[in-house]
Amino acid sequence: MGRLAGKVAIVTAAAAGIGRASAVAMAREGAKVFAADIDEAGLGKLKAENNTIETLTLDVCDAAKVRAAREQTGPVDVLVNCSGFVHHGTVMEVSEKDWDFSFDLNVRAHFRMIQAYLPAMLERGAGSIVNIASVVSTIKGAPNRFLYGATKGAVIALTKQLAADYVGRGIRANAVCPGTVETPSLIARMRARGDYDKARAEFLARQPTGRLGRPEEIASLVTYLASDEAAFVTGQAFIIDGGWTI
Ligand code: NAD
Repeated sequence: MGRLAGKVAIVTAAAAGIGRASAVAMAREGAKVFAADIDEAGLGKLKAENNTIETLTLDVCDAAKVRAAREQTGPVDVLVNCSGFVHHGTVMEVSEKDWDFSFDLNVRAHFRMIQAYLPAMLERGAGSIVNIASVVSTIKGAPNRFLYGATKGAVIALTKQLAADYVGRGIRANAVCPGTVETPSLIARMRARGDYDKARAEFLARQPTGRLGRPEEIASLVTYLASDEAAFVTGQAFIIDGGWTI
């Protein structure tokens, strides 16, 4: 019996990277998993490789679509909020539009999903919410990540407030704070710098372990926090960064 046998989970941004790995890991542990994303082709590939996973086309920036998704999936035991965009630049390179976009996808989407899925968790007196933040947040500043770090700090704060409000009602909320993880978007960002090898070497230089993280390593922590093994764990931000913040 898997650690998540009998549980239903929804994961946002699940067509790639950490979200995808989390959906796969939780399904392997016996959960019925809904993998939600805007990328239909990516979801199709996920489904082809993991036929027990249910896929759901969902733009987490659309409140009506989030409500419709809740109707479609029914109640869940586990909500993993994984959507997030990395804006590159200092405070002087952030437009109002950039600010709105990043806060919408990285923070407000989590608020929308939580508002949609929490009431049924409260009715049943049980639920685990896992929000993917980052070490680049209240934990660590990084050059050229002004807006990204601000959104991820908000994710940690949102998680703690949620945990405080519902700790007596069977709801747990935790944040996962990865360091640098080799995902499609990271590879795209390294390529976008022009000199891929140089960009990769710069990312590796800040890794005392000498390598980048793997999505599956983050998914293991997500799975633990989703499971009843973590019944005594709430309101925390867990760093998983290959020693970047030692
Ligand atoms: P990714 O960026 O490779 O993939 C993100 C997924 O989000 C894609 O499948 C994309 O289609 C989906 N998506 C984008 N907009 C969406 C929307 N409006 N609605 C639904 N889905 C949408 O994934 P990643 O690099 O694994 O990042 C996942 C999360 O982990 C993000 O919150 C990111 O900030 C965080 N994180 C990543 C790293 C890293 O190094 N990769 C480090 C720390 C934190």
